[in-house]
Amino acid sequence: MTTVAPGRIEMITGPMFSGKSEELIRRLKRARIARQRVACYKPNIDLRYHRTAIASHSSQTHEASTVMTVEDLRATLFPMLDEVEVVGIDEVQFFSDDIIPLAVELVHLGKRVVMAGLDTTFAAEPFGPVPNLMAIADEVTKLSAVCMVCGAPAIHTQRLGQSQELVVVGAAGMYEARCRLHFQPWTDESGSEQLELLSTRETAET
Ligand code: ADP
Ligand code: MG
Repeated sequence: MTTVAPGRIEMITGPMFSGKSEELIRRLKRARIARQRVACYKPNIDLRYHRTAIASHSSQTHEASTVMTVEDLRATLFPMLDEVEVVGIDEVQFFSDDIIPLAVELVHLGKRVVMAGLDTTFAAEPFGPVPNLMAIADEVTKLSAVCMVCGAPAIHTQRLGQSQELVVVGAAGMYEARCRLHFQPWTDESGSEQLELLSTRETAET
């Protein structure tokens, strides 16, 4: 029986604008320089820039496939899994909890799994599967952004305006980074509704 050397789970997290996508892109590009084969995915909710790439706010990009659900990601990845050494996933907070056993399965198959996602919602609540992924990761990189009020390190994503939309992705000027002092949490239930909406959405599309 051949045993496969285990892979590695890397989580890159923090608020919006903290450089998660930049860091993911940097790691994937370095893997390709090392002649490793990379497959990158993002959920279909993030249509800000490209359907066929992940992108940072600083306009860096990396080729990626857009998938609807974790099942969709699996169906796209597994037929070519033998060819792939590194799996990148951006905006991982928008996937269902099914992403957790998939990451575990991939790491036992010897893959390096590098995921980036928000740790908290705009209501400052833990976001989807990210806390669990941080717990099972080999390495967690928690980045901070720059507070748009005072310039201090920012750990929060502030939603601006009065939009009642539960999930508003990347609309320009809708969000900014804030430090603890200048973050103003919403007092309604939007944060938990946001998570419910996402799980409903995945169920509906499966
Ligand atoms: P994330 O994926 O975490 O949202 P990105 O990697 O897309 O972050 O973008 C990071 C880039 O965003 C920074 O390098 C910088 O150019 C830009 N940026 C804009 N606003 C801020 C901010 N408030 N703090 C830090 N970087 C910012
Ligand atoms: Mg990003």
